[in-house]
Amino acid sequence: MNALPAFSSMPDEQGFFGPYGGQLVPPHLKQAMDDINVAYAQITQRQDFQDELADLFADYVGRPSPIFHAKRLSAQLGGAQIHLKREDLNHTGAHKINHCLGEALLARFMGKKKVIAETGAGQHGVALATACALVGIPCEIHMGQVDIEKEHPNVTKMRILGCKLVPVTRGAATLKEAVDSAFDEYLTNPTDYLYAIGSVVGPHPFPMMVRDFQSIIGREAREQFLAKHGRLPDYVSACVGGGSNAMGMFTAFLNDAGVQLVGVEPAGEGVDQPGRHAATLSVGKPGEIHGMKCYVLENADGTPAAVHSIASGLDYPGVGPQHSYLKDLGRVQYQSVTDKECLNAFMTLSRVEGIIPALESAHAVAWAMRQAPQLGADQHILVNLSGRGDKDADYVAKALGL
Ligand SMILES: *Cc1c(COP(=O)(O)O)cnc(C)c1O
Repeated sequence: MNALPAFSSMPDEQGFFGPYGGQLVPPHLKQAMDDINVAYAQITQRQDFQDELADLFADYVGRPSPIFHAKRLSAQLGGAQIHLKREDLNHTGAHKINHCLGEALLARFMGKKKVIAETGAGQHGVALATACALVGIPCEIHMGQVDIEKEHPNVTKMRILGCKLVPVTRGAATLKEAVDSAFDEYLTNPTDYLYAIGSVVGPHPFPMMVRDFQSIIGREAREQFLAKHGRLPDYVSACVGGGSNAMGMFTAFLNDAGVQLVGVEPAGEGVDQPGRHAATLSVGKPGEIHGMKCYVLENADGTPAAVHSIASGLDYPGVGPQHSYLKDLGRVQYQSVTDKECLNAFMTLSRVEGIIPALESAHAVAWAMRQAPQLGADQHILVNLSGRGDKDADYVAKALGL
């Protein structure tokens, strides 16, 4: 891991992180992406924008989110000390509000008339509808009919928040069709609309912008940990779907050679079961998806593979381009956790610490529970608890017969 490149200058002008990323889109969309890139560069130079975002982070989201030392869990495991960065305490219950606020402010700055996005389980939809309500911009969320029927509380919240919910009935009527439908609508007028991508994925500049908006997590965490312990943690872990909460956490630690970074992917029912996991970096290979180069899970014919995770926020057959590069560089280790291990971590954290985590976040907790017993009591693991588990409580209770 010697001679690492300068992370602060990534991506390059074309949006590449090493060989990954870029802008693999048709020419008229390239213009729209370049306009967003220029506007983003302008807005980040402005003090009024920085001040407004900082105020919203403090007074609206409730930042800084605390770091909690999970003492009972650590003692029970009998090894390293586990600490949780509490993104679950944010307004709307997860880290997604961090970049949704940034995207909504950017849309207002660019004079956009509508913000469009898709949502699977509804988490991105609720966070974006919230940010758009606050900023006062019309919001349109496309969601598969199957998901609408499954995710009732989030659907209700989006309606209350005043966004236009577009049910998608084509094909399997789930996330993939919702992406296609939202994208079709965006293409009718990329000048007046902003497509708000929900993770560090898609064409440049989205992987960079979403990372920058999320990087508040790691900046706070690094400072908080140093202030409290006078040293940095030995390990920092976060779950990886598209990779936004993990990039938000890791960015501040990339130059700290003594801090081992671990991204945790969903192994679902096992990484040897095609279609029943979403461990893109663990078993995928470099390819292209959604306007970027990155690791992908593909079928033999090159189409995106079917994916599965108990945590619907993690089941994506691609992954952020910067994660793809960090894997090749060896700066971040990518491990995976099964549905079963995730459920065990979900219940353990709930019963030992009184914190019900999102099933996505429970993957990072499960990895820490696996690793801690192999370390000494003077070692520290910092886990990004990306969200809370209210949304998953009914599902888990039913799955476990509680
Ligand atoms: C959406 C979501 C994720 C996965 O998205 P990333 O971009 O990989 O962070 C993780 N945790 C929670 C709570 C989520 O809602």
